[in-house]
Amino acid sequence: MTTHREPLDSVLETIGETPLVRVHDTPDEVPVYTKLESFNPGASIKDRIGKYMLEGMLEQGDVEPGGTIIEPTAGNTGIGIAVAAGQLNLNAVFVVPERFSVEKQTLMRALGADVVNTPSEDGMSRAIDRAQELAEELDNAAVPQQFSNPLNAEAHYEMTAPEIYDALDDQVGALVAGVGTAGTLMGMARYGREQHADTHVVAVEPEGSLYGTLLGEEREEDEYKTEGIGTHDTSTNQLFEPELVDYVHAVPDRDSHAEVQRLAAEEGHLVASSAGANAIAAKRVAERIRDGEIDAPYDSVVTVFPDSSERYLSKGIYESFDAWEG
Ligand code: PMP
Repeated sequence: MTTHREPLDSVLETIGETPLVRVHDTPDEVPVYTKLESFNPGASIKDRIGKYMLEGMLEQGDVEPGGTIIEPTAGNTGIGIAVAAGQLNLNAVFVVPERFSVEKQTLMRALGADVVNTPSEDGMSRAIDRAQELAEELDNAAVPQQFSNPLNAEAHYEMTAPEIYDALDDQVGALVAGVGTAGTLMGMARYGREQHADTHVVAVEPEGSLYGTLLGEEREEDEYKTEGIGTHDTSTNQLFEPELVDYVHAVPDRDSHAEVQRLAAEEGHLVASSAGANAIAAKRVAERIRDGEIDAPYDSVVTVFPDSSERYLSKGIYESFDAWEG
């Protein structure tokens, strides 16, 4: 990020310390702030866990220098891991369901990684199994497994959350974030609840996703276009801790898509669909705090914009809702 004023030795040192920026079109009384995670060198929030998980795994001896990291990933994590692997003397192989954006797969290959595709209809669980099979076939290979690796959430507990709390002098009322692996939200929520036990925590998923069922909320499973968040099978996730979450907000694709276009046109943010969903949910939380429906310790809401819309131009993110492939 641009706040570094001295020459740096490696791109890994530019990860984190992203800007925290006010989101407008929100209640004046309860400001909403967002971390702009596309400022990371691989242009997403997942650079944080790429660096943190690989350094942690080398330290723990899960893999030795010269070894191979294999990860089932929808894309951004692959880029984050590939950036780190290249600088930490590790090879990287990614197992990606076909439906995810080609831009991400192209970038992973450019960073020196290999990409293995699995059929879209088999979902993320097949990609996870395939990654395990590949790891067993190779010597000195390890699977970080972002859906169950505590280092994923820890990266956000150690980095993302303290950056937010420092910037706001610890005055954070609510934390709102989309859940894919849930690493981002769990790391931030654990840190936030330690600062203030009543910190309001909201998970965000697309309508059609099933995370809400973990809090006993009604859900009807359906396809969704929003990329990077949500699940069709909660059992593939071992990081989501329901006791750290007050509410799971299901945002319709149509609303997230409209918000992505509004954020660009009105606020200059080139961000993608999960950011649109986060902005919608964060705004709602701010309104509920203002109206006294949520009793938060401070009148402020923080969310994240995980990545950039440039990664989804080929999918028509700035076209009409029907033309958007998600
Ligand atoms: N948005 C995007 C674009 C992502 O790639 C991801 C990661 N899958 C998320 C949001 C959700 O982050 P997390 O996995 O930490 O829940």
